[in-house]
Amino acid sequence: MSRKSIILPKGPKGRSKAHSGSPWIFSNEIRMDEAAKALAPGAVINVRGEDGRSFGTGYFNSKSLIAVRLLADECDVAIDADFFAARLGRALALREALYDKPFYRLCHAEGDGLPGLVIDRFGDTLTVQIGTAGMERQLDAIVAALEKILKPKTIMLRNDAPSRALEGLDAYVKTLKGEATRITVDENGARYNADLAEGQKTGWYYDQRDNRAFAASLAKGKSVLDAFSYTGGFGILAAKVGAKEVVCLDSSAPALAIAEESARTSGVTIKAVRCDVFEELERLKAAGETFDIVLADPPPFVKSKKDLEPGAKAYRKLARLAADVTAPGGFMMVASCSHNIAPERFAQECAQGLQRVGRRAALIRQAGAGADHPVHPLLPESAYLKALFYALD
Ligand code: SAH
Repeated sequence: MSRKSIILPKGPKGRSKAHSGSPWIFSNEIRMDEAAKALAPGAVINVRGEDGRSFGTGYFNSKSLIAVRLLADECDVAIDADFFAARLGRALALREALYDKPFYRLCHAEGDGLPGLVIDRFGDTLTVQIGTAGMERQLDAIVAALEKILKPKTIMLRNDAPSRALEGLDAYVKTLKGEATRITVDENGARYNADLAEGQKTGWYYDQRDNRAFAASLAKGKSVLDAFSYTGGFGILAAKVGAKEVVCLDSSAPALAIAEESARTSGVTIKAVRCDVFEELERLKAAGETFDIVLADPPPFVKSKKDLEPGAKAYRKLARLAADVTAPGGFMMVASCSHNIAPERFAQECAQGLQRVGRRAALIRQAGAGADHPVHPLLPESAYLKALFYALD
């Protein structure tokens, strides 16, 4: 095979990171010689030590800080439709063991052994999100594999994540097969509308499934504030299980319109308010309004490492404001989907926010994303979602 090799020089201790089994190899860990620089972005390569030892098959991008993402433990593994069918078949079997309905994240990148590839499944519709040049080059093989294992009616490409720029990729949305449309998500026994073409990310956030169910388990007969509601993932389920009042807050008018539509389809009532959540929480506090359950699931406040301090402060402020509008004896949740803040730091910021309000709080649930978002054991970065639930006095 004429496949090129990327060489891992020995580090100061004679070891390189790939020894540890991490699927990422950084650009400063490899020998970035002319031969490496000449490789097309995303080219499939072998990774070898200076002594010729095999570290596996991966793909390479000299433009990216994460220069190599490993796909297999052996060198010279063929990366083709059969390879993807095997990996995606394994991912599918896991979801089929977990869920009785075909609504889930089918592929969660490194967690499913496919770095750079995210696929959400909505019945016979799939939304595919490619994050790296290496996966972009494999698109035909990926689609062929999906045809083989699932024969979906619709395949929609949501290749519009801003992070693609780090890989030198452009942003685009495209329907590969069928008609990408408005669909219905069936989750936790509720039905939600979603817009796969215009919605955020892949159109729906499956990661909060279990946390939505937990919040709903507390919600019967209660008033619920769903802050940063997007299309009402938390709020509609709460309304469905019998919350007496549900208010959804979001800055996105299209997202709130879908939330209202889903409420109508589900035969429940919600109040959707377009606002800045921070301003609205200040207003509610000034007006002395409280809710039995306050759920705050904001966008990532720590988008990159340099945002850590301001982002951490924003989580602290959010926890303080959420506590301010939580009724005595109520519950609140603060979530973070930032990769770049560690769970301990996030919990510490929330604790400090609560302390400022002077409310006694008991941490009753610490959770991440659902089981359809598997984490690579040697890549803790892939566990990005953190949700903390507190019971307040
Ligand atoms: N809780 C949602 C997902 C939230 S995603 C679910 O279960 O599906 C974060 C949401 O916050 C997005 O819908 C975005 O429009 C909204 N948002 C971002 N900044 C905001 C702000 N300052 N005020 C109100 N909403 C905001």
